Amino acid sequence: MALTPQFHEAVRILDAFSDKDRLLLEGLCMKIRASEAALTDAAAPLLKRCIFSCQGLCCRNVTPESLIHMMDFVFILALDRSLEKTVSSCLKNENALYTSDCIFLKDGTGPCIFPDDLRPQVCITAFCGKDHSVGKEIARVKKAFVRMEWFIRIRKLKTLGKWIQHSLSDRSFRV
Ligand code: SF4
Ligand code: SF4
Repeated sequence: MALTPQFHEAVRILDAFSDKDRLLLEGLCMKIRASEAALTDAAAPLLKRCIFSCQGLCCRNVTPESLIHMMDFVFILALDRSLEKTVSSCLKNENALYTSDCIFLKDGTGPCIFPDDLRPQVCITAFCGKDHSVGKEIARVKKAFVRMEWFIRIRKLKTLGKWIQHSLSDRSFRV
C-alpha cells in the first residue's frame, strides 16, 4: 500500500486520541525509542560498515512502502509532531519515477530525516548477513512495536464498538 494514505491514517489516529490515550501511547513509544537507542549503540560496528563500506546502500535501492508502515508513522509522530511537515513534503516524491533512493533521505542525498532513535521498525532492525550480535536488542525493538500496535488496535476496536452502540441506540430511539 502506498505510503501517503498510511501517513494520513496515522495523523488521523493521533488526532482522534483523548489526552489520556495520547499519554499512554507516548509511554509505549518512549519504550520503543529507548530500545532503538540501545540497538543503535550495540550495533555501532555494524552501522560503521553501512556508512563507510556501503555508504547507506540499503537506503538507496528501496521501495519505501515495503519497509515503512502506518504504525511507524504513529510511533514517529507521537514523539515528534514537528516531523509531520517534513514527512509530508518527502511524500510528494512518492510516485517519482526518476529515483530508487528512499524518499526520506534529507535533500535526496541523506542522512535519513528520522533521528537514530526514531526510525521505522524495519529500517533499524534489518542487517545484512546472519549477525546475531545484536539479536537481543533487535528482539526488544520488535516487542516494543508489537505492544504499541496492539494498543492502537484495541483503541480502534473500542472506538468502533462505541460507534456501533451509538448507531443502534439512535435507531431504537427512532423506532
Ligand atoms: S545492511 Fe548491509 S548491505 Fe545494507 S548498508 Fe548495511 S552493510 Fe550495506
Ligand atoms: S526511512 Fe531512513 S533509514 Fe529507512 S530506508 Fe529511508 S532513509 Fe533509510
